[in-house]
Amino acid sequence: MSAEAGKTVQVIGGGFAGLCAAYFLARQGHHVHLVEKADRRGGLLRTLDTPYGLVETAANALLSNELVEETAAELGVTLIPTRPTAKKRFILRDGKLRRFPLKGPAAMRFITRTAPRFLFARQSLSPQPGESVRNWGERCLGEDATNYLLIPGLSGIYAGEPSSLSASLILGRFFANKKNRVRPGRLRGSVAPKGGMEELTHAMHRYLEQEGAEFKSESTPNLPTIVALPPPAAAAFLEARAPDLSASL
Ligand SMILES: Cc1cc2nc3c(=O)[nH]c(=O)nc-3n(C[C@H](O)[C@H](O)[C@H](O)COP(=O)(O)OP(=O)(O)OC[C@H]3O[C@@H](n4cnc5c(N)ncnc54)[C@H](O)[C@@H]3O)c2cc1C
Repeated sequence: MSAEAGKTVQVIGGGFAGLCAAYFLARQGHHVHLVEKADRRGGLLRTLDTPYGLVETAANALLSNELVEETAAELGVTLIPTRPTAKKRFILRDGKLRRFPLKGPAAMRFITRTAPRFLFARQSLSPQPGESVRNWGERCLGEDATNYLLIPGLSGIYAGEPSSLSASLILGRFFANKKNRVRPGRLRGSVAPKGGMEELTHAMHRYLEQEGAEFKSESTPNLPTIVALPPPAAAAFLEARAPDLSASL
């Protein structure tokens, strides 16, 4: 339990972000109110058990690191690595599935532009404050690589508009100082709970129940609050409470 344990904190949004925030607060000894407007928690994450196997409606894996592995172990969730065959990713270009979608001069431009900076001036590739994924790609990789490599690759993960996705949040970790990086785990690359992503959200929910967290559909005024909502929902939630912050979203 941390020195400042025992506070009551409300977390707005019961998706993966909110469940994680609530879980770590409860683990530090705080009393949590988890506020979710829908009738289930987990948000976008949902695992469907189909005759063809498990199907995920959103994220199907997590990047492994020490914290992810420790948290899963504490929750009694077994993580398994991605099957090698599933690691092969293809990008559709000109009607064909390609592992590397740049051709001829575009491939040369990408390599000659990016490789020297990557090897000798890595920090120049570091995302700038407020830079979007699209702007970062055009600045650092060039237009072809942005359109045919970066955006299809990241869209499969973040399912968002590249001009609105934050480059520093998504790519910043690759440029972080070594001491700020999360420590690698035992497993490398992507990992997933054996029973699908909902196994993790259900386990967090069970832990919160055991710890006496309160599950609510409406927020309580004047409580310390963590907003764990996607930006449009966060902007709506904050509109009357913090208009400037809401407008900045
Ligand atoms: C097809 C697809 C594939 C993806 N693949 C990957 C992947 O491989 N790797 C990866 O890292 N990510 C992936 N993602 C993204 C990842 O799934 C999401 O970023 C993540 O699940 C979002 O979680 P969240 O808690 O931020 O938001 P959400 O899941 O949207 O949860 C927000 C919650 O807040 C609730 N809410 C909204 N407004 C209010 C309010 N006013 N009061 C109370 N509650 C409110 C909602 O009902 C919802 O439950 C993918 C997404 C999709 C769609």
